Amino acid sequence: MTTTQFSSEAHSQIKAKAFAAASAESPLSPVTIPRRDPGEHDIQIKILFCGICHSDLHTVRNEWSAMPTVYPCVPGHEIVGRVSKVGSAVTKFKPGDIAAVGCMVDSDGNCPECQAGLEQYCPHVAFTYNSPDVHLGGVTYGGYSENIVVKEHFVLRVPSNLNLAGAAPLLCAGITTYSPMRHWGVTKGKKVGVVGLGGLGHMAVKIAHAFGAHVVVFTTSPNKKEDALHLGADEVVISKDANEMSRHVNSFDFILDAVSAEHDINTYLQLLRRDGNMTLVGAPDKPQAVAAFSLIMKRRSLSGSNIGGIAETQEMLDFCGKNNITADVEVIPIQKVNEAYQRMLRADIKYRFSIDMSSLKSQ
Ligand code: NAP
Ligand code: ZN
Repeated sequence: MTTTQFSSEAHSQIKAKAFAAASAESPLSPVTIPRRDPGEHDIQIKILFCGICHSDLHTVRNEWSAMPTVYPCVPGHEIVGRVSKVGSAVTKFKPGDIAAVGCMVDSDGNCPECQAGLEQYCPHVAFTYNSPDVHLGGVTYGGYSENIVVKEHFVLRVPSNLNLAGAAPLLCAGITTYSPMRHWGVTKGKKVGVVGLGGLGHMAVKIAHAFGAHVVVFTTSPNKKEDALHLGADEVVISKDANEMSRHVNSFDFILDAVSAEHDINTYLQLLRRDGNMTLVGAPDKPQAVAAFSLIMKRRSLSGSNIGGIAETQEMLDFCGKNNITADVEVIPIQKVNEAYQRMLRADIKYRFSIDMSSLKSQ
């Protein structure tokens, strides 16, 4: 493969090998991208592993009308690596440390959201990729890359007992499922549904199980039944089976919907008990119909949730360390990333791809 060079108007920068999509129709292919020289509050990280999230695929293919993609697009926001350089004001990390970066690399730090530790809802949040890059111009480039330079506040610690390839997906799939479960009070004895056993769904099952909840998985894939039980589910429902579904009407405290494509959410709302909540984390682009009566009759609520704040992400990582939780990963070289996207679209992955970034060397 040939490598494309992307120029930038930046003053002080380093180069990094990466994989990018040049358009919504293009496969990901090798490129060289600029990274800024670390400033005084910055940490430069040599990336070891980067998970593949379905959001990467939505973005590469420009599937979200609310967040149009700017090309070239270097995705990747489940990043684990080793610190290679730190700025003079950095206090929490030193070269050689293991460090992690999730979906955000900056925010304004002053707004009510940032003050509440909810940087993901800051009006000026910079996501790890496809956000305006205030340092180099253009947009931010993500973790399908040799290295990344990130402000210290957005760099996380990985508990030393966790396998690094399996820990990478915690930075998005882990926090995106942990945060709403904490917000909606998932604790011991609560009945929790998880819709869609993909990357996010399988993390939700592990985390809800560790919280002591009674976990029911809803899947369209009968061949995932055994896995779901091994991952920590107490029951598995094949969602196409109306009889199986009807046995759970009015019974759930909380349901997390982690489905990446269009589906009928009313079917699941009916399974909530009085005052039960269903939270959407799955992000298909098309609006979904909600029947008023699915909500009214039992004062049910429907919500959404976006990743989690930095402090909560560290809390989640520490929780996973204590409970020995990582993602079930298939480790692949970066050269297999386009094939991995095809497999993700067929729901043919158990349950997260984690890219071994040392494979970039051969580009
Ligand atoms: P994934 O690994 O591809 O899993 C998605 C799962 O959805 C599949 O494994 C499948 O589970 C189910 N599914 C797929 N197509 C379906 C269909 N047509 N009807 C019903 N079920 C279907 O994706 P992921 O990485 O977990 O991400 C899931 C979604 O969450 C994506 O839309 C992603 O963009 C979004 N996301 C949101 C946030 C946030 O902060 N809110 C963060 C990360 C990701 P079964 O085989 O079990 O049915
Ligand atoms: Zn993600």
